[in-house]
Order: sequence, then C-alpha cells, then structure tokens
Amino acid sequence: MMTSTSTIDHFIGGGRSAGASGATQPVFNPATGEAIRAVRLGGAAEVKAAVAAAKAAAPVWAGTTPLRRARILNRFLHIIEERIDTLAAVITEEHGKVLSDAKGEIQRGMEVVEFATAAPQLLKGEVTENVGTRVDSHSLRQPLGVVAGITPFNFPAMVPMWMFPVALAAGNCFILKPSERDPSASLLLADWLKEAGLPDGVFNVVHGGKDAVDAILTDPDIAAVSFVGSTPIARYIYETAAKHGKRCQALGGAKNHMIIMPDADLDQAVDALMGAAYGSAGERCMAISVAVPVGEKTAEALIARLEPKIRALKVGPGTDPEAEMGPLVTKQHLDKVRGYIDAGVAEGAKLVVDGRGLQLQGYENGFFVGGTLFDHVTTDMTIYKEEIFGPVLAVARVPDYATAARMINEHPFGNGTAIFTRDGDAAREFAHQIQVGMVGINVPIPVPMAFHSFGGWKQSLFGDHHMHGPEGIRFYTKLKTITTRWPTGIRAGADFVMPTMG
Ligand code: NAD
Repeated sequence: MMTSTSTIDHFIGGGRSAGASGATQPVFNPATGEAIRAVRLGGAAEVKAAVAAAKAAAPVWAGTTPLRRARILNRFLHIIEERIDTLAAVITEEHGKVLSDAKGEIQRGMEVVEFATAAPQLLKGEVTENVGTRVDSHSLRQPLGVVAGITPFNFPAMVPMWMFPVALAAGNCFILKPSERDPSASLLLADWLKEAGLPDGVFNVVHGGKDAVDAILTDPDIAAVSFVGSTPIARYIYETAAKHGKRCQALGGAKNHMIIMPDADLDQAVDALMGAAYGSAGERCMAISVAVPVGEKTAEALIARLEPKIRALKVGPGTDPEAEMGPLVTKQHLDKVRGYIDAGVAEGAKLVVDGRGLQLQGYENGFFVGGTLFDHVTTDMTIYKEEIFGPVLAVARVPDYATAARMINEHPFGNGTAIFTRDGDAAREFAHQIQVGMVGINVPIPVPMAFHSFGGWKQSLFGDHHMHGPEGIRFYTKLKTITTRWPTGIRAGADFVMPTMG
C-alpha cells in the first residue's frame, strides 16, 4: 500500500517499476491543499518497457480461451467488491469527491467488468451456410494485440474500467496512462488484476503527462488508443494516432443542456438539476451545466426553487459523510473556475449565487468553490460557449422548445442532454432530432449502462466507436471473414469396411 510520503511507481511486467526518467510531480489532497505523495513521470523509455512486456505476454493471452479470461475478470470483480472502501478512500483523497460518489464511480466501473465476464458470448462470430452453392462463410473477431488507454482525472477508476475489462476480455494486452493528478487508483487496480490471476505483462501502468502520451501515440507496436479527456487533447490524440496508423476513439469535453418544459414536474427537475450540476463539484463530463427553462414563468419558478437549495449545499472534504460536494481537483483548476465566474459577471450574466467567497474552517488551503448560479446567460457569453468543469450552472431562458433545441444542436459539444416534460410528443421529437450522443427523458445524467455504449457526438468524440458495451467489443477486435468450399467426393471414396493389415 501507499504511504503518505511514498512515490507512485509505474506497473510494468507484473510489478512496480521506478522507470528511468527520474522525474516526479506532486499529487495533492485537494481538501487540504497539501502535496501528499509524488508520481513518477514516465516517457519514451517507460512506454517502451511496457510495450515490450505487453508484446511478450500477448501470444499466450490471445491464445487463452475466452472462458479462462472471463474467470480472471470474475475474480477481479469480487476483489474490487470486497475492497471497495479502500479504492474509494484513495479516490477521495486524491480527487476530492465525496466517498459515496467515489463508491458510485467504482460501481459503474464494476458493471463494465461484469459485462466483460460474458467474453465467450460476446466474442461469438457469425456463420452463413450456403453463401454460394456448397460454400459457407464465417466471421471471427480477433484481438488487436497491444492497446493503450489514456484517462482523465475526474473518474480515476471508472474511466479506465470503461476500457481495459473489454480490451482484456477480447484477448488484448493493455497499457494504461492514467491522469497524473490522481494516479493511485490505477495501481490498486493493477495489483488486484494480478491477484485475480492475470499473467504478468497483460496489464501495465505508465504514469506521466505529454511525454508518455506522445510515446504511446508514436509506438509502432501499439495497435489502438482509447482516450477520454478535454476536447483539444482529444483532437490531438485522434489526429496523431491516425497519422501513426492506429485505431483511435477519443472522447472529449461537454456542455450538457437540460430543457425544462412548462409542463415538467418542477420539483423533480430541480432535484435532478442539483445532483447533475453540483455532484462531484461539476467535474463530470455528463454534468448539466446549462438549464434551459421554456417560458418566463418556468424560468422564474426554477430560479426561485434552485437558489435556496444551492445556498444550502453542504460543501466539505470528501471524507465528511455530511458533505454533498467536495473541492476541485487542483489549485490551477480552482483559479480557472473562479476566472469563468469573473468572466460571466463581466459579460453581463446575472450572478444569483456566488461560490467564490467560500471559506471552510480547518480547510482554508483546500481547493473549494461553492455552488454558483447564473441567470440570463446568452449564447455569445464565454460561460455558455466553453466547458467550465466546476459547480457553475448557467440558466439560459428561451421562449419556446424550438429555440431550446436549436441552441443544443448549434453547440459544438454533443455529449449528453436531457428534457424534463410530461409531454410524450415533445420528448419523442427531442429524442429523434437532437444532435447529441446520450439523451435523457426526465433523466438528468443519461449515462448508458455497461451493456450499452457510452459516447457523445460532434466535438465530444473523435473516432467511430463509443466505449464499452457492443461498441467496445468492436473497437478492441478486428474482423476476419472466412469463406470455405470443400471438394466433393471424399465421402464417396471413403472406405467404411474394417481396415485390415493385408
Ligand atoms: P485532460 O485533457 O487535461 O487530460 C486527459 C489526459 O490527457 C491525461 O491523462 C493527461 O495526462 C493527458 N494530457 C494532458 N495534456 C496533454 C497534452 N498536451 N498532450 C498529451 N496528453 C495530455 O483532461 P482532464 O482535465 O484530466 O479531464 C477533464 C476533461 O475530460 C473534461 O474536458 C471532461 O469533459 C473530459 N471528460 C470527458 C468524458 C467523456 O466521456 N466525453 C469523460 C470524462 C471526462
């Protein structure tokens, strides 16, 4: 286990490795603002070592039956279940989110492991008898080889678990480059995979930033790259990976709108908004950051109910069982979110609740900002156009449904969206024509379950495949189709009498 002064190593070839670079970066506890440990920053040498370990393990792992691979994932699932508190504590310590939320993210990740334990079923091919006269055809899905995942800070366990359980189930070896801001969870996952019986080299972790990422993107032995993070980096990952002949899925940022129709159950909508805008301090790619009430009456009623609830939000360290919202991840991110609130004021939005002044006794150096609410936000403002990734909700009033839908369709991001209404016709029209990858109807955060696939549209995803579910299996396998014709006459010539030596 990690101690408070330890250095976080890479995990290569089945064990911890200090690597060659010697460089490290502090990891903070966002609630106290203290540096609690240091993470090693790998580069080309560490990625090369991980690729060598993965390449060496690949033939045996690809040749292991899907059933055996699934059994290892099943043991891994049970280990996480037993030690969920340990993993959640590490996430809360380095990320800042409240413990119940950390457990929620682990639960959602475990569901992907559960999905992947169906490997023998998931990897079944297709057969057509008689594609031509006496000719048959069958299709197989085979592993890609060595694949890599590059993940963001906001879900240090769940997002890696969107990727590696499916990749491993399909027979690939995996290199994870987790976020350098909260890297410890990935090492626990590596230890527990090993304990579950995963052969050395099949799963590796290389810590670091841009150097490690660039080494992954240019390594000729890495066949595919999965990425989740901000849009500018997602675009860079996609373009660079493609240039180097790799398959790539790169999920980017978001600006998720929720339409509140005049006939919506307003209490339900307000409760949903509170969780969706302020849960995890707004550091979720599926957070709702824009509320779009239709009609002035709806807007007035919405603001009147939201304001007291936001003022009453319990902000505190993630370890406090009473806290509903923790700190932001780093001092830099805190400054950025505060800067967006300043910009909203400067651009003329009405600041209804201001979270900038929040001070918590005993946590004066923590990266806290309180829940913030802007009203009368318009589409030309920075706080509307850009992803803030903090507990800042913008209310953009519109006169009718058509204006709301047009706003969403014209926004460059297209990750998630929701409508709250009692009108089935409006809901159906919304689901049908909205240009967004994940849609909720009276559901604020429509994150697909593990057996469906997760992904946005427009600048929220570069590539062709969404993550986990059936799309994950397609991403991590290549298709081979075999067409077979056997010559006739063998049966006719066969000798069915008992062979004799004479
Ligand atoms: P980020 O883009 O800063 O970092 C993501 C990963 O990229 C990290 O592993 C980081 O080390 C690496 N990276 C950072 N800068 C790089 C560079 N210049 N070159 C190469 N690699 C680099 O994202 P973050 O701040 O960790 O996470 C928050 C972002 O992730 C938000 O934009 C959020 O919307 C997005 N996100 C999206 C989804 C989704 O499903 N679409 C899910 C979670 C988070």
